[in-house]
Amino acid sequence: MTASRLIDHAAAPAAAVTGRPQRVVPMVVGYEPIAEAVSIAGGSSFRYLMEPVTAVAVVFARGWLLIDGGFDPVRVRDAACRRESFDYENYAPIVPPGYPLCDQVAEAGLDWADLACALLTHAHFDHTGAARLLAPHQPLLLQRREWEHVRGTRDPRGDFLFRDDLDRAGLSLVLLDGDTAVAPGVTAIDTSGHTPGHQSVVIDLPDRTIVVAGDAADLRANVDGCVACGSTVGHDGPERAHAAASRLSALDERPGTEVWPAHDPEWRVWREIMHSRR
Ligand SMILES: [Zn+2]
Repeated sequence: MTASRLIDHAAAPAAAVTGRPQRVVPMVVGYEPIAEAVSIAGGSSFRYLMEPVTAVAVVFARGWLLIDGGFDPVRVRDAACRRESFDYENYAPIVPPGYPLCDQVAEAGLDWADLACALLTHAHFDHTGAARLLAPHQPLLLQRREWEHVRGTRDPRGDFLFRDDLDRAGLSLVLLDGDTAVAPGVTAIDTSGHTPGHQSVVIDLPDRTIVVAGDAADLRANVDGCVACGSTVGHDGPERAHAAASRLSALDERPGTEVWPAHDPEWRVWREIMHSRR
């Protein structure tokens, strides 16, 4: 049984935006200590990075899209919810005061009522929190393979999933099959490996192209060194993750194209936010 409404992309209405992407709004919505070996294949299991949890808004002439959205703050802040949802050694996520996602959306001058849809790079719970805020007419777009992974797992808690972020009455899910143009100037691309249906998002802005990598590249080192992420799902996960890193590295080499790693504390886009907020 699935409570969410499932829609094939081919049958889904066009995203309720006008024109092409004008700008992006990067957001830092939380933090999590992550072993380097999780972010980068062959990395250290001893060295921990305090990684930002990030989201990106893509703003059109009218309307906007959201990519990921961090944790559901309630579940991270509530002790009983935390125990019920995850209890991994050395995993201690942090949500700064307030409601960082909603606060930063409002500060950027964006209205939730104008949100056309949301894209999910993958279903790990440090990305799915915003799904709880979507109305039925604001669908969540994810890969069909990712949805099947979410539905098929016997151990959501062990697999880093809050299944009910994604499986609830009132949520519309649009299922994508591989590379898909989801709105003018916005394309989802297959970067599976970290999870079975992981996707990245290519955004063609007037002056440049940005690729929101998701966890196919936690760090710029994944892109610069063409190194897979260290955490993968399935027997073919490492191979797929390597192909994903290669794909992102090749995109990054195109003139005017920049790949944004999801969790790099040193990436200037996230650093600027972390250092400017009080
Ligand atoms: Zn992840």
